[in-house]
Amino acid sequence: MNTSPGILLIYTGGTIGMIKNFETGALIAFDFDELLLKIPELNLLDCHIDTLSFKEPIDSSDMNVERWKELGDIINENYEQYDGFVVLHGSDTMSYTSSAISFMFENLAKPIIFTGSQLPIGDLRTDAKENLITAIQIASLQKNGKPVITEVGLYFEYKLLRANRTTKINAEHFEAFQSLNYPPLVESGVHLRINTAFLYPVNRRKKMVYHTHFDNNIIILKMFPGLNEHILESIFSSDTIKGVILETYGAGNTTTKKWFLDAIKKMIKKGISVVNITQCAGGSVEMGKYDTSVGLKKLGVISGKDSTTEAAIAKLMYLLGEKLQPKVLKTIYETALRGEMVEN
Ligand code: ASP
Repeated sequence: MNTSPGILLIYTGGTIGMIKNFETGALIAFDFDELLLKIPELNLLDCHIDTLSFKEPIDSSDMNVERWKELGDIINENYEQYDGFVVLHGSDTMSYTSSAISFMFENLAKPIIFTGSQLPIGDLRTDAKENLITAIQIASLQKNGKPVITEVGLYFEYKLLRANRTTKINAEHFEAFQSLNYPPLVESGVHLRINTAFLYPVNRRKKMVYHTHFDNNIIILKMFPGLNEHILESIFSSDTIKGVILETYGAGNTTTKKWFLDAIKKMIKKGISVVNITQCAGGSVEMGKYDTSVGLKKLGVISGKDSTTEAAIAKLMYLLGEKLQPKVLKTIYETALRGEMVEN
C-alpha cells in the first residue's frame, strides 16, 4: 500500500506550463499528463502526484470570480482524497486568486500551495523546475501523519509566503513576490527552514467549510493628488456598486476636502461598504493617527489595517457574497479571518 502523501497538482495556465517546440522555437502548452516523464526529478519526491488541468488553461490576466470557483470546486471535490494541493497559476494575478482561495476554504487543514514561474518550464534558464519541485515538497511535508502547512501559501524563488499577504512586485526578476507585512513561512536553502511560529494554526475539530459566493460589484479607488470631484461623483452614482476600496496615502490618509468626505458619507448612508487600505507596499492603516483620516473614521469607513490590495479585494467580495448587514460586515472585515491582516 502506498502511504506516501498524495498531492493533486492543478494547472490553471500561465507561463510555467509552456515548453519550447525545438523545431519551431515557439512556446506551446505543456502536456501535464506527461509531467513525470518530462520532469523525472519529480519521481524522487516522497509523494505520489496526480495532475488535473483547467479545461481551457488561461493567461492569469483572464482570471475572474467564475474561474476562482472552478478552481475552488476542483480542490473541494478532491479535498478528502489528497493530502495537499499545488496550483500552477500565472504570476500576474496569483496573489488575487490565492487570496480568494484562502477565503473560500474556512478551517483548512491541508496545504494549498500556489506557484508559477517567470520563464516557461521548457526554457534552459527556467525558474519553473525549482518552484514546482519545492512547492510539491512543501505540500507533502507531514508531522505525525498530518500536513505541516494548513493554509494557502505562495511559493516563489526559495520562499513560501502566506498567499493572502503577497503582492507581485517585479515583472521580470525571479523574485517576483513580496510579503512586507508578514514573514516567510518556509525558506528553502540547503534545508527547508520552517518558521513554525508563523504558520497558521489548524483546528482539526472544526470541519472545513467551502464558500463560493463572491459579489464583484465593487470598485477600487486609488488616491492621487488631483482626484476630480465630478469624475468621482459620476463613478459613485452607479447604483450597482456595493463596496468601495479606498487605496489611501500612508497610514490611511485622504484629502480633507468637504466634497470628498461628503461623497464617502453618501455612499456609507446608502449601505455601501467603504474600506480603507494603504497604497504603501508595507505598513498599516491607522485611521485617526493624522487629522486627514479622522473624518473617514467618523463616517464609519472600514479599516483594512495592513491588508494587501489583493487580499482586501478578495475579502470584500467574499463578505459581500455572504450578504451581511453593513455593520456586521464592518466588524467581520476588521477581524483577521485567514491571517490576512494583523489581529488588532
Ligand atoms: N502573463 C502570465 C500570467 O500571469 C505571466 C506568468 O505566467 O507568470 O498568466
